[in-house]
Amino acid sequence: MYKKRLFGRRSSGIGKISLVLALLFLMGWATGLVSPPVRAASTTREELKEAKERQSALSAEKARLAGISRQLDRERDELTGQLAWLNKRSDEQKNLYREKTAQLEAAVSEMEQAYADYVAAEEDLASKQVQYSQRIRTMINYRPKSILEIFLSSKSLQGFFTTLQFMSIIADADQQMIEDLQAGKDHAALLRDLAKQHAADMEEVVEQLEAELAKLEADAEATRQDLEEVELKLSRQQQAEADLLAEAAMVAELVKTLQKKVASEQATAAAKATAAARATAAAQRKPVSGKGWAWPYPADRTIYSAYGMRFHPIYHYYRMHTGVDLGGKYGNSIVASRAGEVLLVRNPYEGRNTGGYGYGNYIVIDHGDGYCSLYAHLKNTLVRVGQQVSIGQKIATCGSTGTSTGPHLHFEILYNGSTVDPAKYIR
Ligand SMILES: [Zn+2]
Repeated sequence: MYKKRLFGRRSSGIGKISLVLALLFLMGWATGLVSPPVRAASTTREELKEAKERQSALSAEKARLAGISRQLDRERDELTGQLAWLNKRSDEQKNLYREKTAQLEAAVSEMEQAYADYVAAEEDLASKQVQYSQRIRTMINYRPKSILEIFLSSKSLQGFFTTLQFMSIIADADQQMIEDLQAGKDHAALLRDLAKQHAADMEEVVEQLEAELAKLEADAEATRQDLEEVELKLSRQQQAEADLLAEAAMVAELVKTLQKKVASEQATAAAKATAAARATAAAQRKPVSGKGWAWPYPADRTIYSAYGMRFHPIYHYYRMHTGVDLGGKYGNSIVASRAGEVLLVRNPYEGRNTGGYGYGNYIVIDHGDGYCSLYAHLKNTLVRVGQQVSIGQKIATCGSTGTSTGPHLHFEILYNGSTVDPAKYIR
């Protein structure tokens, strides 16, 4: 059977476009546009400026992803259109097929009727031939008699002529009857042959229609598969966009926090006019010291996923892993890896094991010397923004909120706004 895919070439074209889009998207991840909050500057004002720059970079990234999304929408619309067209054509062909099948059935019964007529005509002819030969024999029996003999055996002159006329009429009628029978027989045979040819033609038409239908169904199936592929790509894309939105919200939160901090610093500066007062304030902001970093997941000291490029378990492509994955039991304690001030607490899924996108519930602690630590996918958050925490202090419990496949702590260390490998710090 002939099974070439109508849109085979076009589908692979779409596949290529999608691959390019996926690569572009990967590059978006790799550039770190969607990595955790940046704290590069030494003063709050500079931090705020950088956070705002990051916000505008995220907006640009959002616009770029929206463009990709629109392209995928177009692909989906195109494939949906193709599918609808193929389904419509398939329905039309099915109607035609039903029509032709009915025609075939009619032709077959017409042929059968013609055969029956033909057989009946032949039988009729045979019987008439028997009757005819009997009539001929009867007439031959008369033949030895001369017209004189008939004349002599006739009772009257009237009877003689009547007998002659009668015999002639009978012979003529018999001849006519034979001719009619022959014509009828020929006609029936012609009808039969025509019906037979017609039926054979119809069979060919139906066979051809069956092949076309099978091909159409295969085309429709191929298009349905293409459509599914595009839908899957689209849903992945949409999930990635949702992730990005969550990250953008996080940065917005950071900006808000930093703005509050600027305002409070201004108030402090106004209140404490002397250099001595400023020095005291600066001293108070200094983090609790200690070069060491504690292991943030006391119950389990294994790194299950290292820092660096890795294959993403949900999106199924390579991306930068900006931290390490530790532990893995719901409710396990998570402790501050170093002393510092809580910079950010985001806990929309507080107390829940799962839910949301991106980091889910998370905490950022500022260690004051360019270092921050980040704790993500939390179940419970036990600290508030502005709180001073000491090294080893319990700050959260383990969960699987956000984009996560199971309970674990995603732990990051940032130095001047860039992630570094936490394995080189924590012990
Ligand atoms: Zn992780």
